[in-house]
Amino acid sequence: MYSDIENSRKWGYWNVSSSNPLIIAGPCSAESENQVIKTARELKASGKVHLFRSGIWKPRTRAGQFEGKGHIALEWLKNMREDVNLPFIIEVANTRHVDHALNASADALWIGARTTVNPFYVQEIAESLKGTNIPVLIKNPIHADLGLWLGAFERLEKSGLHNLAAIHRGFFASNSAPYRNDPRWEISFDFRRAAPTIPIICDPSHIAGKRELIEQITQVAMDIQMDGLMVEVHHSPKDALSDPDQQITPSKLISLLKKLDLESKAVTPRELQKLISDQRKILDNLDKGIVDAMKKRMKIVDELGYIKANNNASVFQMERWFDLLKQRGHQARELGLNENFINELFQVIHKYSVEHQNEIYQHFRDKE
Ligand code: PEP
Ligand code: MN
Repeated sequence: MYSDIENSRKWGYWNVSSSNPLIIAGPCSAESENQVIKTARELKASGKVHLFRSGIWKPRTRAGQFEGKGHIALEWLKNMREDVNLPFIIEVANTRHVDHALNASADALWIGARTTVNPFYVQEIAESLKGTNIPVLIKNPIHADLGLWLGAFERLEKSGLHNLAAIHRGFFASNSAPYRNDPRWEISFDFRRAAPTIPIICDPSHIAGKRELIEQITQVAMDIQMDGLMVEVHHSPKDALSDPDQQITPSKLISLLKKLDLESKAVTPRELQKLISDQRKILDNLDKGIVDAMKKRMKIVDELGYIKANNNASVFQMERWFDLLKQRGHQARELGLNENFINELFQVIHKYSVEHQNEIYQHFRDKE
């Protein structure tokens, strides 16, 4: 167990840790000077927010959606900084954005998930930032590729930028319910192992996709010792021009931050340890049963593989697959289990079963 001091990491002007988290808040997009100032004033008054965020060029999934106000919004942010005394951070996705941001003396920059994904863009940004040591946050790429995420850090570091932190904003998944992006918390553990001195900030807004889930995600982020939060905040979320469902009001953010439990949970009291370990023993036994059942199941899968190979029947049988999903889905519903959970579980089981049978087929063909 590390002490808080050892656990704190430096980014920008701040030493951050899960017991002293960096708080970045502001709207998904800067929409008007009035919106920027109004939101920033409320955030500043709370005394809890370090940095004001807002997108001014928005990478939207579909054409025709609101794409941000562009560089004129930088004037609003500069005025806000003068007036309200909050530093600001914006997203940059190319050299032109970087030039505008540096001209406006932006206090920090972030690289978005759709940019981290592309080494050409990241390289271009890294080169245009050479000679500055502006603090930069790098969001995880849209899909769960740790190497690509770390690669973006390496590119910036090679350009002499060492004031870097990561933002965990969740990952695209074909079924990420109930979230917009699958949190895949284990990937941030892998990141921490690979780069222990780099702070990791959680973006609960883009994980959640809906405001009702933000509080719960935020607490998980603190429990697993992330170093801060970047939350989308709008004075009237339902009227927001982008991401209206996931933004919260400044007062909601402030009450959420007050409620957050920042106590380190790394040490578990003895009685609790006993309670947990008793339950874990039961789980271990059940898990053992699951693996035994998989062994038995695979034996039958192999026998079936031989029958199919002998009779030249196809390995993947669509009707059978849909029938299996239907039956197990029905059983899950009856037992009150999440149907998606059982569906995903059988996708994995079926994938490896098909793989086994393909090997058997190949074996038959090689003998012919
Ligand atoms: C954002 O933070 O507004 C944004 C566009 O996020 P992401 O890159 O995570 O999709
Ligand atoms: Mn957004």
